[in-house]
Amino acid sequence: MKTDLASEFVDNPAAQQAAALIRACVHCGFCTATCPTYQLLGDERDSPRGRIYLIQQMLEGQPVTRTTQQHLDRCLTCRSCESTCPSGVQYSHLLDIGRELVEQRVPRPLPERYRRAVLNQLLPRRGLFAAALLLGRKFKPFLPPSLQRSIPDAAPLKSFAGAAHSRKLLLLDGCVQPALAPDINVAARKLFAAVGIEALALPAAGCCGAVSHHLHYQQDGRAQMRHLIDACWPQIEAGIEAIVMTASGCGSSLKDYGFLLRDDSAYAARARRFAALVRDPLEVLEPHAALLREQLRPSAAGKLVFQSPCSLQHGQKLSGRVEALLSALGLELAPVADGHMCCGSAGTYSMLQPELAVRLKADKLAKLGAGKPTLILSANIGCICHLQVDSPVPVRHWLAFVADQIPD
Ligand code: SF4
Ligand code: SF4
Repeated sequence: MKTDLASEFVDNPAAQQAAALIRACVHCGFCTATCPTYQLLGDERDSPRGRIYLIQQMLEGQPVTRTTQQHLDRCLTCRSCESTCPSGVQYSHLLDIGRELVEQRVPRPLPERYRRAVLNQLLPRRGLFAAALLLGRKFKPFLPPSLQRSIPDAAPLKSFAGAAHSRKLLLLDGCVQPALAPDINVAARKLFAAVGIEALALPAAGCCGAVSHHLHYQQDGRAQMRHLIDACWPQIEAGIEAIVMTASGCGSSLKDYGFLLRDDSAYAARARRFAALVRDPLEVLEPHAALLREQLRPSAAGKLVFQSPCSLQHGQKLSGRVEALLSALGLELAPVADGHMCCGSAGTYSMLQPELAVRLKADKLAKLGAGKPTLILSANIGCICHLQVDSPVPVRHWLAFVADQIPD
């Protein structure tokens, strides 16, 4: 679709990029069939094609309203539409630009601004979030039941002291995961060691910037990205083979640093080099499936099912690969209907759009539970916490489950 930029956008590089991205869309509507919000709400403006239209209308000078903002807000950024689109439309990049331009033109109501500001201050700060979680756990019995259920119990403390290896990667902690589920990175470290790779830690690296970015605090998000690149740079120069995050949502953002920092002349080239090194743990482990399998001493695994996070299958384009690795390790997984659909977690979406998120979660849990599993495996801390609140069976990261099958 061709976009005739309005005079206010003609010299705006972001608007020009958006117009170039819109050009790839042929308006076929195939994407609507796999869009969770369109499936739930049935409104074209809550579909990928409709949102592309809304952005295009803004760029062509039509009024931008709170309604425009709400339809863009309702997008989960699950990127299911990108997996479906036959024309290769880079929807998430377009949405990023569209949201930023709308944000500059439409003020949010005060309560919404306040909620977003609190999340932006709390979530990316690892120490602050850990302290808040500790307080929440301490006073859990005095909180309203809905809040009680959303505070997960502390995971059992685990540690793993791996030996040095010539192969080295950088294993980043992120922001909320160390407090919510510290066992996941311990498990990753153990699995990497099992295949002869040393995982270096970098506690000062901080948040990947995705939380702030998605809350429309793009400047904060980009500052966190630059900080992370700076923190990792000595190890990149020293020749580490990969940068890994065990939360697939964060990994997906790291792989996108080249785009997110494209206009930053001081960081653009470094961001591209950084992004080229990013791997999901799956990509590191899958060439070593046979070696891992030799070391597994599976306990009674029960019935397993895998919830493939959108950030893994649509964001990182690794659809079916964790399932294939688990199967190569001798673990049997129940099939999942509509596995491409989002569970409603989507970063801070479950906090900002709770009604839609709860409906998506109920549907996802029903599909995951169809085969009566005893354990749900996932690859993203956000999905794990979101599903666990209402799941009748435990939800764990697949790395933590597999690591438990290897003797210490
Ligand atoms: S990213 Fe997900 S919710 Fe947003 S338009 Fe695409 S499919 Fe729909
Ligand atoms: S499937 Fe792709 S080309 Fe077709 S309407 Fe959706 S975004 Fe546009």
